[in-house]
Amino acid sequence: MVEAFAVASGKGGTGKTTSTLALGMALAETYDVTVVDADTGMANLLFHAGLDDVDVTLHDLLVEETATGVEEATYERFGMRVVPCGTSLAAFERAEPALLREVVADLAADADVLLLDSPAALDSKSAILPIVLADRVVVVLQPTIPALSDGIKAQEYARTYGAETAGVIFNRVRDDEETETIARQAERYFGGETLAMVPESDLVRAARRAGEPLLAHAPDSAAAAAYREAARRLDVRP
Ligand code: ADP
Ligand code: MG
Repeated sequence: MVEAFAVASGKGGTGKTTSTLALGMALAETYDVTVVDADTGMANLLFHAGLDDVDVTLHDLLVEETATGVEEATYERFGMRVVPCGTSLAAFERAEPALLREVVADLAADADVLLLDSPAALDSKSAILPIVLADRVVVVLQPTIPALSDGIKAQEYARTYGAETAGVIFNRVRDDEETETIARQAERYFGGETLAMVPESDLVRAARRAGEPLLAHAPDSAAAAAYREAARRLDVRP
């Protein structure tokens, strides 16, 4: 059995991709983990995982006529299986987003945990598909009022489509009263628990520049520790 998580937020730049790879690496210490860049319109997980030079990606799996098997777009990296998505607009236009359902079903056969890095905007059927396909949704929020309102929407979508909220990761929490207060107040709006408060950190940016997940680039950082704790709290039940 597999447990599938969508990592979503309702807003861009909150740290979904960073969080997907960090949780993936933490969970890969115990489980067979497959990470999918399901943000097919604005894919960027490949840059976070040093996969920007690969030829075959999720886009190729989302074309009906091609006989590309999921394994051809799956790369073993950092102890996980990673299915990146390409950045070409032409490939995105050729892709049929609804085929993600079949791709996810194929990938589920070989994994304990599937993590779906999800699009920022939840404004179309294809954009919410990762949430629809997930068992649980991890909401990634920056502790600002607008981000919270988007996060509440993301959670409503999850409920509407039958996914539970696994919890909230507050990301880019600065060491000041304002963000800490917002994060603490926000806890009561969300059904799921707070999985982690991930600090704002230069090491997170440096990891992205190096094309490595945070847990590979800075395993001893406070941010990495926060993600390991979040992975434990997820209480995965494949
Ligand atoms: P999303 O996938 O939600 O669009 P990303 O994970 O790509 O967000 O993060 C957006 C940018 O913010 C990246 O450049 C990333 O390195 C940076 N970032 C994310 N989390 C942190 C953090 N805790 N501290 C500093 N920079 C961060
Ligand atoms: Mg992203």
